[in-house]
Amino acid sequence: MTSLINNRKRAYESQGGICYYCGLPMWLEEDAEVLTDYLGLEAPQVKLLRCTAEHLHARTDGGTNAGENIAAACYFCNSRRHRQRHDQAPEPDDYRARVKARMASGHWHPALSALGRWGS
Ligand SMILES: [Zn+2]
Repeated sequence: MTSLINNRKRAYESQGGICYYCGLPMWLEEDAEVLTDYLGLEAPQVKLLRCTAEHLHARTDGGTNAGENIAAACYFCNSRRHRQRHDQAPEPDDYRARVKARMASGHWHPALSALGRWGS
């Protein structure tokens, strides 16, 4: 097991299994069924809630895999943040505030409507 995988798991556990940005529940490899069985999500939505290791300080800017640089974020939030060119990617705090505002208005995560008012 690499340190990145360990740190992702540690972040996942310390965040109580919810995304650093949007606050929705995520899954690690071993517990995807929890979301499908208990929350009734469709497979494409479940994929977007996969737990990924988010480099708070981007690797392209010299960020490391050290635990303090890793947060657990769902695939959707992580990929959205880095969709921009890396030098234009928003700072984690700015991005988090933007995601929270979008979540509050109900227009962010494709899985949100299926989860109802989770996290609000
Ligand atoms: Zn998220």
